[in-house]
Amino acid sequence: MKPSMAITSMLRSGIREIMDLASRVEGVIHLEVGEPNFNTPEHVCEAAARAGFEGFTKYTPNAGIQPLREALVEKVQRRNGLDATVDQIIVTSGAVAGLYSTMAALVDPGSEILVADPSWPNYSLMMQLQGIEPVHYPLTVENGLVPTAAEIEPLITDRTKALIHNSPGNPTGAITPHESMQELLELANTHDLWVFTDEVYDEIWFDEPPVAMGPLDDQGRVVSFFSMSKTYAMTGWRVGYLVAPPGLSEVIIKAQEPITSCVNAPAQKAALAAVTGPQDCVEEMRRSYRERRDKVVELLEDRHIPYVRPTGAFYLMVDVSPSGSQGIEFALRLVEERHVAVVPGTTFGPHSGHFVRVSLATATDLLLEGVGRLADAIDDWGS
Ligand code: PLP
Repeated sequence: MKPSMAITSMLRSGIREIMDLASRVEGVIHLEVGEPNFNTPEHVCEAAARAGFEGFTKYTPNAGIQPLREALVEKVQRRNGLDATVDQIIVTSGAVAGLYSTMAALVDPGSEILVADPSWPNYSLMMQLQGIEPVHYPLTVENGLVPTAAEIEPLITDRTKALIHNSPGNPTGAITPHESMQELLELANTHDLWVFTDEVYDEIWFDEPPVAMGPLDDQGRVVSFFSMSKTYAMTGWRVGYLVAPPGLSEVIIKAQEPITSCVNAPAQKAALAAVTGPQDCVEEMRRSYRERRDKVVELLEDRHIPYVRPTGAFYLMVDVSPSGSQGIEFALRLVEERHVAVVPGTTFGPHSGHFVRVSLATATDLLLEGVGRLADAIDDWGS
């Protein structure tokens, strides 16, 4: 008896390798984590507890409870400029399950999906599980780690079915400007591709709020993914949502049935409280991430360490090539010798080994201590 070929050939996330090693080393500063270091706001927890005590603990409709879907219609209109009806909103078990169901619903095994290098590794992992081939398009420092149609177009074949776009980006911290989104959409129109736009970090930005891609779509090819995870420090609650083009929800809901069926009922009540309740917690977290970004940037500038200045999400990419080592080798040595965990760039794509990702979702004093040690390591090992 053997496990499936799909699971055997699925690569292991480099984040896990670092986390495993970090858990065996005493006193490590964790800059690899991709989740807020804040607690879920109290009124959100109370709403979930109330739901439990009131017996709101049964299956819900696959697409989510009506009041939450209605509140999300209002949210995407207000925050993302997206005009959607309730039918277009599907509540998902985190954005991750929304992406998985959407791929299963819209892309056949044997097809190709274009995905950025570097990008969040789960896109490629879920493709591998579904027999879909990830084709990496480069994000270059010269282009501010923002995708360009010119670099993507030569990679399109008759098997290409979709393009994944992520802004604000993990691990890049980059926000795709309006004109680049327009360009990507024209490319998708020309080659008849679905566009999966992952905007889970839509509320985490430092200079200008990001624009959404959905409102630019006039051909019904963009599916937009959002989440409670990062905005409200709710990673463990597993609530995300997507906005499908008109008429497409039914097939995605159909795909969701055998995967997750519906989202945990009390967690949907928590999400409703989060979206409809006071929003100052969002602003406070955003301010903290922005302060940390500014302090880390100042430190790296002082030390002349190459990095890419993030404008959103809570990650920062440091170029470790001056150290003389790259990727997993650099990251493993940093844990062992300097007791700092970061994510090696190879986790995010085959050509991103010269980077490591630092998470800003860590208390400021630890973050600065960790980045200081990282800068020391680059200097010491490179000399
Ligand atoms: N998309 C990106 C770019 C992410 O970085 C993450 C989590 O780190 C997710 C989606 C997953 O979000 P969720 O917790 O809603 O599944």
